[in-house]
Amino acid sequence: MRKRTKLKKEVIVLCTLIIILVVGVLLYFVIFKVGKVKVMLSSNLTTEIHEDVNVMSFVQDVKHGEIISQDEKIDTSTLGEKEIHLKIKNEQGNEEDYTFKVQVVDTTKPVITSGDSLTVLVGTDIELLKDVMVTDNSGEEIDVKVNGEYDINQVGDYALQYVAEDSSQNETIQDFTLHIIERPNEREEIPEDYTFTTSKGFKGEVKNGITYIDGIIVVNKTYPIPSSYGNGLLEETKQAFQEMNSDALPLGLNLYISSGYRSYSLQEDLYSGYVLRDGKEAADTYSARAGHSEHQTGLAFDLNSISDEFTNTPEGKWVHENAWRYGLILRYPYGKDDITGYKHESWHLRYVGKELAEKLYNNGDWITLEEYFGIDSKYE
Ligand SMILES: [Zn+2]
Repeated sequence: MRKRTKLKKEVIVLCTLIIILVVGVLLYFVIFKVGKVKVMLSSNLTTEIHEDVNVMSFVQDVKHGEIISQDEKIDTSTLGEKEIHLKIKNEQGNEEDYTFKVQVVDTTKPVITSGDSLTVLVGTDIELLKDVMVTDNSGEEIDVKVNGEYDINQVGDYALQYVAEDSSQNETIQDFTLHIIERPNEREEIPEDYTFTTSKGFKGEVKNGITYIDGIIVVNKTYPIPSSYGNGLLEETKQAFQEMNSDALPLGLNLYISSGYRSYSLQEDLYSGYVLRDGKEAADTYSARAGHSEHQTGLAFDLNSISDEFTNTPEGKWVHENAWRYGLILRYPYGKDDITGYKHESWHLRYVGKELAEKLYNNGDWITLEEYFGIDSKYE
């Protein structure tokens, strides 16, 4: 009997111990584990360089706690690992620090802006990169290389490529054709130098066949430019575009040059194509005859779609209001067909320098070069 009672006692003690242990473990979980702050992060902790991202776009949920402060912004101006700090109030009312890391990466390829062909006279010095521009989301300067072979002394069409690579090894390859063409036999006669005064009293000067009014090169239906003139977009034109583009990019606007410098012979091809398609009278309202195109000066370029659709895009509207800030003018404004000789072209910009551009902008009611100088634009 005594032995049995002792055994029973031991069982009760053991059971009690087990119960205390189980309750203890449960209490431990309730107090220390279940209530522990848990931050659920999104599965992708990377972001593109220069992207405007919020810290909270990486935090999906916080369990057993509440965020009371966080880093204002993620610095995405440089590549690499960025530490993000959160302050969290847990269920016990205490503050806890929480940090996690976000990788800033660059996976976007550079954008090459160029024409898909280049036409040059056989035997001339050419700069294949003259009309090529590269922009990249990283903001870094990127060199362009030309792939392929050609012989400048051999007439023919050469398939070449522009190659651009950013420092994160994102590479863009763009095909283009180099047309090396025969020299035209006939050369137009270049007039003797002379000066004149416009109807608004500006001094005009014709030098080597090029017309300058108040120091500005003018090319329109009245004033031609010699066929040999020009070999690419001028530095100031490129710079003006780049300046404009770097202000437009952060606004989410995508501007690119679709047509920059055009040689005499390329303009000849273009214009004769339009005449074949639409007839001479119609072609003259929207395309210049060879030797009368501003594109040959290296001071003009066409943006984006080169079409009326561009006018009402956010890009078109912004350019209308802001191009002057970079010394660029809307050369063929709306409703000035009879003055410029061309239909409205919201995409065609011409570099004239900031001072004159601001005057011609005229608070949004664009004035043409023809009105300002007091000159015509009519074929003889
Ligand atoms: Zn144009």
